[in-house]
Amino acid sequence: MRPWLPLLGLAIFAGCPKKEPEPLSPPGHVTILHTNDLHGHYLPERADWLPGEPSIGGFVRLEQEVRAIREAKGRENTLLLDGGDILTGTPLTALEEEGARGTPMLRFMEALGYDAWVVGNHEFDRGLENLKVLAGKSTVVTLSANLRDKSGKEALLPNQAFSHVFAVNGVRIGVIGATTDSLRTLVSPRDWARMSPLPVAEAVRAEAARLDPDTDLLVALTHIGLDDDKKLAAAVPGLDLIVGGHSHTPMKEAGRVGDTWIVQAGSYNRQLGVVEVDVANDAIAAFRYELRDLSPETAVVSADESVAAMAAHYQKNIDSIYGEVLARAPAKLDKSYHHESALGRWITDALRMASSADLALYNGGGLRSEIQAGEVTRRSLFECFPFENAVYTFPITGEQVVAMLLRNAAADATESRAFLSISGATWTYRMNSGAPELVAVSVGGQPIDLARTYTAAATSYIVDQWEKFLGVQPVDPAPVGLNDFEAAVAYGKARGFSDDGQRRGARVE
Ligand SMILES: [Zn+2]
Repeated sequence: MRPWLPLLGLAIFAGCPKKEPEPLSPPGHVTILHTNDLHGHYLPERADWLPGEPSIGGFVRLEQEVRAIREAKGRENTLLLDGGDILTGTPLTALEEEGARGTPMLRFMEALGYDAWVVGNHEFDRGLENLKVLAGKSTVVTLSANLRDKSGKEALLPNQAFSHVFAVNGVRIGVIGATTDSLRTLVSPRDWARMSPLPVAEAVRAEAARLDPDTDLLVALTHIGLDDDKKLAAAVPGLDLIVGGHSHTPMKEAGRVGDTWIVQAGSYNRQLGVVEVDVANDAIAAFRYELRDLSPETAVVSADESVAAMAAHYQKNIDSIYGEVLARAPAKLDKSYHHESALGRWITDALRMASSADLALYNGGGLRSEIQAGEVTRRSLFECFPFENAVYTFPITGEQVVAMLLRNAAADATESRAFLSISGATWTYRMNSGAPELVAVSVGGQPIDLARTYTAAATSYIVDQWEKFLGVQPVDPAPVGLNDFEAAVAYGKARGFSDDGQRRGARVE
């Protein structure tokens, strides 16, 4: 090379004063952006944890934040990941497009240039066949190392990869997907019978061992919840970073177990996680993490016209179907996972009216949003009950009701499980040496008859997950002919959205 040097020097001297531009990110510096649990939320929404409760987030605002960071760091030096549960929460994922529900969410994610997403449990809400069509069309890398077909060996979904290696600013990043170990109690028995997922730790460990020799950074992109992320970090010590989801945890600071960092970015498209790492010698040399609220006033670039047009298109479409005002709510109907709530009372009354059953039941995890005081539209009601699960009636004995209420008492007292909201019964319990016992139970205003068989109404989800909610498998459940959302619309139109505040279950001393 030496003989050329003078010539090169001359060329530079003779009018090429251009020197190499400073790299936006120094070698080995990587920025990992992440969201999780978007649940169909594509528009800005009220942030009730911020002063003044401003509307924040949505894909238009998210794209602005992502683009600004890509411009500052260099797009080729960044990754954009999603921790799963893109489906179920707003009417957007109820719209069928190109043969599958959920397609619009993937279209948004493609428009924002997501690099990978992991399959969450709610991706199964519209059934495995729907998910297969959806995954088959995804141009975003679809990950899950443990979701397997019946053989336990092959991927369950078309296009599904166990992991993917991205080359980012000279760093080889192995990203391994993982879907919750609790799938059996979260998907329908029909779908469950068609799969044999591996335990998360086993699948991630195998994939990490396979990727480790050829990568500089190992990332688990998980939909297993923060508690299980911590267990995974302990079980697979080679992981550098876990980008999580499922527990909807807005982590203001990254967690750490051993040498593994853990992050998660809330839910509903309102925040963006920003991880910056320097990678050297096959490990993280420097780590920085920030959870950014996607507030409108902090945007530093203008909105992208095509993403804004997409959002406006879907909003118009959804308003034409779901814009109708059903009635006014005089006050907010709140929800709770572990306790009785106004919304739980309201929806069980709605199911009881739809079915004429003695009792109606609704699970705490099924209440997805709250009814605010003021006009209630079909859309806002849908966001409370987005699953559209069919309503069934089935016989239930007095003894089974008592067993169910005891589980409810445990939920209320210890917050260790989900509460089953109930209409048609009232009950009291007390704690005796740390265990709940029922004091009084009545059904239809009469003391419960343990030997009698009553009728109960509940959604297909509760019927399918009878082990968790009922203890006994319902005999010959009969479809009522509508789903929970339809029952809610009918009840809202007929009776409005008020709550008398009267507790049906209460703890006494
Ligand atoms: Zn989830």
